[in-house]
Amino acid sequence: MTKVIDIINKKTAPFASFELVPPLKGSDISKLYHAIEPLMEFAPPFINITYHRDEIEYRQKNDGTFEKIILTKRPGSVAIAAAIMKRFPVEVVPHLICGGASKHQLENDLIDLNFMDIQNVVALRGDAIPGQKYFTPEPDGHRYSNELVAQIHNMNQGIYLDETLTNAVHTNFCIGVAAYPEKHYEAPNLDIDIENLKHKVEAGADYIVTQMFFDNAKFYRFTDKCRKAGITVPIIPGLKPISTQTHIEMLPRAFSIDLPQDLMKEIRKCKDNQAIYQAGIEWCTMQSKDLLAHGAPAIHYYTMGKADNIREILKHSF
Ligand code: FAD
Repeated sequence: MTKVIDIINKKTAPFASFELVPPLKGSDISKLYHAIEPLMEFAPPFINITYHRDEIEYRQKNDGTFEKIILTKRPGSVAIAAAIMKRFPVEVVPHLICGGASKHQLENDLIDLNFMDIQNVVALRGDAIPGQKYFTPEPDGHRYSNELVAQIHNMNQGIYLDETLTNAVHTNFCIGVAAYPEKHYEAPNLDIDIENLKHKVEAGADYIVTQMFFDNAKFYRFTDKCRKAGITVPIIPGLKPISTQTHIEMLPRAFSIDLPQDLMKEIRKCKDNQAIYQAGIEWCTMQSKDLLAHGAPAIHYYTMGKADNIREILKHSF
């Protein structure tokens, strides 16, 4: 098993990695395999699997009263990671989130991952559940991702939550964390967000993966600020190609990012979704080439289960 940080440090040429979403409950895992197969041509050294917290829904019963239902829409992240590694020659990087989980649950997930010889994770806070305005940690959970990073780092030192455990196995996790070139939506400003990012690195994060962005200048400004703030770990840029008209409204709202005016000019020229799809490929290819020319060690692509546009981008960029 190879750690992401070792892959980054040892690679002589930049590479692409991908982020995939677990299948919806009731779906076949073969859908996920079909999304991975076309990408294997590019020999990605690792693939990330997102984690989706439970959602709460109130369903009306026959008597008119409402019943609270806990919905796990995309279960099985840990098992999916193991299934992918068994099928493809690739490291899998499962995401772990603080939201909805106690420290004990997280510890148990990490123990499962360690038993499966999965040594890479991305440690995240997660968002508020739909209907809730602010992120609320579990009473015995973590408030910020730096606390989860510290928990994982402790396990790497053989320190578990039960302090009476002596001679506990030292795990060997490589820890990635998230960052936001355009600032996390809750942070008062980019400098404070970067201070908080530094806390994650000081807690034990090995590398950083960014939120998607569509203006490379913002990424370069962000990395400059990180370096000036004393953050020295690798920063992997995250990209996503626009592929439908819906993205134009959805992405800024969902991810608190801007779509630059030049991109919008190109999109406005498009007569249909097919043309938008092509414009999205061209924009993302331009971004990829520019990032590689500026020395990016890798580019992380948010695939959202779609492989064809990502293949086009990689064919013309790497
Ligand atoms: P944090 O690092 O905890 O930061 C959250 C906010 O708190 C920021 O504004 C930060 O500035 C501030 N902050 C951080 N530490 C402190 C501190 N110690 N004191 C005070 N303020 C602090 N979500 C999912 O549910 N599942 C996923 O699989 C997933 N994958 C993602 C992958 C990437 C690469 C990215 C960029 C995001 C991903 N997300 C995922 C979304 C993420 O969970 C949300 O963006 C969430 O709102 C913040 O997560 P975080 O880990 O960056 O939080």
